[in-house]
Amino acid sequence: MSAAQAMAAGPNTTMERLDAFMARANAAYYASHDPFADFTTAPEISQVFGEILGAWAAEMWQAIGAPDPVLLIEAGPGRGTLMQDVLRLISRVAPAFRSALRVHFIETSARLRAEQAQRVPQATWHDDMAAVPAGPCIVLANEFLDALPIRQFVRTAEGGAERFVADGRFVECPCEGFLPDAPPGSIPGSIWERSEAAIAWVEAVAARVMQHGGAALILDYGTSESRPGDSFQALKGGRPADPLAEPGMADLTAHVDFAALAKAARAAGAAVWGSVPQGVFLGRLGLAQRTEFLARANPLSASDLRESARRLAEPSRMGLLFKAMCVTRPSAPRPPGFAA
Ligand code: SAH
Repeated sequence: MSAAQAMAAGPNTTMERLDAFMARANAAYYASHDPFADFTTAPEISQVFGEILGAWAAEMWQAIGAPDPVLLIEAGPGRGTLMQDVLRLISRVAPAFRSALRVHFIETSARLRAEQAQRVPQATWHDDMAAVPAGPCIVLANEFLDALPIRQFVRTAEGGAERFVADGRFVECPCEGFLPDAPPGSIPGSIWERSEAAIAWVEAVAARVMQHGGAALILDYGTSESRPGDSFQALKGGRPADPLAEPGMADLTAHVDFAALAKAARAAGAAVWGSVPQGVFLGRLGLAQRTEFLARANPLSASDLRESARRLAEPSRMGLLFKAMCVTRPSAPRPPGFAA
């Protein structure tokens, strides 16, 4: 359908930019659904994931000078499982960090806030990063940025077009004003994506780290370089679905462009580490050793533990598509799990 046809379809046809459509659909989805019926995330696969991130946070806290108090911020905490595992590990290995930290959650879904409160009742909730109080911080975000809205552009012979949504279909409108650079490798017909919401979030995190000190660890699926491609997808009942068909009924995501995030954080003056593949990151932080330790202590769940570790780290599963990236002050030492 062309833009002219969509307009001609009459006043009942609303045309929305893709990011507006995705924001509206996901807000409705997270408000009304249990997303974990549609997808599984690393902390839901294995407790070892959260324990490794807990040990990472404790080491990072020491590395930034053990500030007390310190904000332990998680964006998009889902069921609260990750923070529960993180806190259990910290209580055991870093009691001073445990008593210094204050948990802050960034979560817009009232339904998920209630679930998070069952596992982490001491948390304070906020709608966005701007509402979190000032102070040194450790920030965790696992599979958060992939849920933030994206814009999509199409390279055309004349320059470019942007994709809008009308009546459950894409409408391409020639770009008159803003057209971001097409990534290397794009040819006429190529689609490319840009998440202004994800970039703004990383800018806010980098500014906070620069002003108050701290570190942010971002884990998500995506690419280490900006490249053309359409990664907009919907999952419904664990299966791929048409992302435009039933807004609010499916989980809509897109791959995270780690190069764009790194650029934004560096522009704010911060240092960026990675991205590195999740399998490499978890391997360096002792995934295999921790899994073996737990497997020996719990023989009945040993094969489940080993299978979960493989799922998180094997390149053909979550190990390569998922990546880890860290934002610190330039003066901070190398964060655990990242190469110099
Ligand atoms: N980190 C969790 C959950 C990932 S699902 C895990 O690893 O299991 C995405 C999470 O981000 C959900 O908690 C969802 O409600 C939240 N979320 C999505 N969009 C958001 C937004 N714009 N602002 C704040 N939270 C959001």
